[in-house]
Amino acid sequence: MRDEAKTKFGESLRGTLIQRGDSAYEDARKLYNGMIEKRPLLIARCVDVADVIAAVNFGRDNDLLVAIRGGGHNGPGLASVDDGLVIDLSAMKGVRVDPAARTARVGAGCTQGDVDHATHAFGLAVPAGIISTTGIAGLTLSGGHGYLSRKYGLTIDNLIEADIVLADGSCVTASMEKNPDLFWALRGGGGNFGVVTSFLFQLHPVDRVFAGPIAWDQKHARTIMQRYREFLPGAPEELGIFLGLKTVLSSAPFPEEFWGKRMCLLMCCYDGPEEKGREALAPLIDALPAPWFNWMGAMPYPAVQSMFDGLYPTGMQWYWRGDFVKTLSDEAIDAHLEQAAKTPSELSLMHLYPIDGAVHRVGSGETAWNCRDATWSMVIAGIDPNPQKAGPVTRWTKDYWDAVHPFDLGGAYPNFMMDDEGDARLKATYGDNYTRLVALKTRYDPANLFRVNQNIRPAA
Ligand SMILES: Cc1cc2nc3c(=O)[nH]c(=O)nc-3n(C[C@H](O)[C@H](O)[C@H](O)COP(=O)(O)OP(=O)(O)OC[C@H]3O[C@@H](n4cnc5c(N)ncnc54)[C@H](O)[C@@H]3O)c2cc1C
Repeated sequence: MRDEAKTKFGESLRGTLIQRGDSAYEDARKLYNGMIEKRPLLIARCVDVADVIAAVNFGRDNDLLVAIRGGGHNGPGLASVDDGLVIDLSAMKGVRVDPAARTARVGAGCTQGDVDHATHAFGLAVPAGIISTTGIAGLTLSGGHGYLSRKYGLTIDNLIEADIVLADGSCVTASMEKNPDLFWALRGGGGNFGVVTSFLFQLHPVDRVFAGPIAWDQKHARTIMQRYREFLPGAPEELGIFLGLKTVLSSAPFPEEFWGKRMCLLMCCYDGPEEKGREALAPLIDALPAPWFNWMGAMPYPAVQSMFDGLYPTGMQWYWRGDFVKTLSDEAIDAHLEQAAKTPSELSLMHLYPIDGAVHRVGSGETAWNCRDATWSMVIAGIDPNPQKAGPVTRWTKDYWDAVHPFDLGGAYPNFMMDDEGDARLKATYGDNYTRLVALKTRYDPANLFRVNQNIRPAA
């Protein structure tokens, strides 16, 4: 590519074009997952829709591989690409809350924390994930689940419309009324259809919650998993509650006597007053042995959303595998416990996030996100700050997944997949919706410009 073309492109932006050799380059190319090292040719840090249109046109016209970056949190690092163009939206922040309509217009560069901060001032929230540094864009486009999902659904179930720049450089709005097919595809189909520049979300009244972790010695995990499995279907939908098999970190604020010991954790968030939260949890907690610690308390919703941020800073080694889980049999529990006993690092974990309540009230064909009959979205994540542990955490994750996958459904939450799982996994994930997704991909991106993602290939 001629320097002149790059210069002209750079000059056409209100944002910044960052190239190899620029002082900002090393920082700008970094991703959340320290295991991924990619060196793009160009990073277009866009500040408005016009910049995004220019970047899409430039990438397409110069045959560059194009990656789209929201928060950069994606496991396999699909927010970047070697030798190609990164369309970096991280500067496109801004949240406008309409408290009367209970909606928020959200820039595609916002993190969940940006959104929670802005909406909490009005006593409102949109259901999203559990770590506030995650980008709202990548999370939303592949589904988005968190503490509020049992009551209010996935993040996509609260999406009213999105503005999107398509592969031909045109900018359109997708909603139930405008381009409804595209709107269907955006709700679960990931970054396959274009660059979303802003989202309009439905908000809900969520202010203070009763939330926090309860931890037990992992020797009780079998009982806890059985009781949790029985309790969840009848539990009030105000209660978001995920289960984790993990290790107590050897650092404050954890009590020193438990440092490095394997635990079973229930992370709870009751959307309502403390008394009602205690009441909701009592049938489960009262039937279990005494925990090592119970740190539940009343707090503002953004406090629980950012509770784990400090434990998972940018730049650690991550290897992920996921599955949708329908039932948790005793045999499956035994397989989990055998693998969880072999964790290669204190940060490595297995979580089961509920996919029920309001998520089940949306039909599997109503949005691209197909797996509405799952009960949990499972993630196994091998994590360590030390790059030399990349091998062990990856191996442990794969072995763990191999052991439990036979008990699970065929597909997984696309945001919990790496990039080495193959087309069959995506087909299993999208099920009956896959054919329609391929047809829409063929219509909106026939040349597969947007292919640095969990790729749905257009028909030949
Ligand atoms: C610590 C941690 C905790 C997490 N917890 C949760 C959780 O509780 N719930 C949950 O649902 N998920 C969770 N996730 C997964 C998370 O949803 C994904 O990592 C997601 O990809 C992050 O979005 P991002 O914008 O940061 O992604 P990026 O890495 O920036 O982008 C990922 C992909 O999304 C697409 N994309 C991003 N922005 C756009 C855009 N504007 N237009 C079109 N396509 C775009 C692109 O295909 C891109 O390759 C977690 C991840 C981490 C690392």
